[in-house]
Amino acid sequence: MENLTLSVCGKINLTLDVHYKRPDGYHEVEMIMQTISLKDEISLKLIPRPVIELTSNCHKLPLDESNLAYKAAKLMIEKYKLDAGIAININKKIPIAAGLAGGSADAAAVIVGINEMFQLNRPQEELMALGKDIGADVPFCIVGKTALAKGIGEKILPLKHLSGFGLLLVKPPYFVSTKEVYSRLDVKAIQERPDTMAMIEYINAQDIGKIAAGLCNVLEEVTFKLYPELDFIKKHLVSKGALGSLMSGSGPTVFGIFENIREAKNAAEKIDLAGNEIYVTQME
Ligand code: ATP
Repeated sequence: MENLTLSVCGKINLTLDVHYKRPDGYHEVEMIMQTISLKDEISLKLIPRPVIELTSNCHKLPLDESNLAYKAAKLMIEKYKLDAGIAININKKIPIAAGLAGGSADAAAVIVGINEMFQLNRPQEELMALGKDIGADVPFCIVGKTALAKGIGEKILPLKHLSGFGLLLVKPPYFVSTKEVYSRLDVKAIQERPDTMAMIEYINAQDIGKIAAGLCNVLEEVTFKLYPELDFIKKHLVSKGALGSLMSGSGPTVFGIFENIREAKNAAEKIDLAGNEIYVTQME
């Protein structure tokens, strides 16, 4: 196969808990992740020269070895001794450095795409283990849907799939560094933690009211100190009809949950959050 195009979903966190900082510097986390219908499109093409070429519609994206899609291609070529060059085009729709795992999603697409293009037939677990070396969210992005992630985020337990519930995403006009947020987190001082087990029960019951009420992310405390207006955005979304609202990942994106995409669209027309990017989407 010479060409392949894949769509890959961003994610939100329905819960995010941090247990402790490990000796290797990473944090031991427990989080419930959910894919959303905001997608990047990754096109892969075989080229005769033994190089990795990267292009994108997004001028804010680094197009060098630091790009996670580049790293994923390099890893696959080395690991499976592929005698080929690859041109990768990233059509970016997932906002960057927003807490929506856009970079991890691109890396996941490249890993899955190269597995398919070269008919490597490697099992999903092997691809996930490779993806972990690129980023903690890559294994989840390979599996997708609704899942519990543990460890540094690489141990994935699929949960009953939530889909079709509406989402309104508010992305403020600045980037947040995941590394900085974790470095500012004082695990012993965390005020409020999610009840992850209860959330799994609500997901099993597909009870969106209880899911919305159980949303909790321990990183909000840190990011809200840096950007107090994020708390206002959360409350604003609820005042306009969201069943619940939360910051995703390390932020700054804040989302509201709705029964369906129509309700999310209605709320989008009522909100007053000029200066922010607004996305109407759904769980996928
Ligand atoms: P997470 O939710 O996993 O913490 P995020 O959504 O906050 O991730 P990303 O969009 O993955 O963050 O971007 C984080 C950093 O990675 C940015 O500084 C960006 O420049 C860099 N990066 C490298 N490759 C990519 C890529 N393919 N897409 C987006 N960002 C990338």
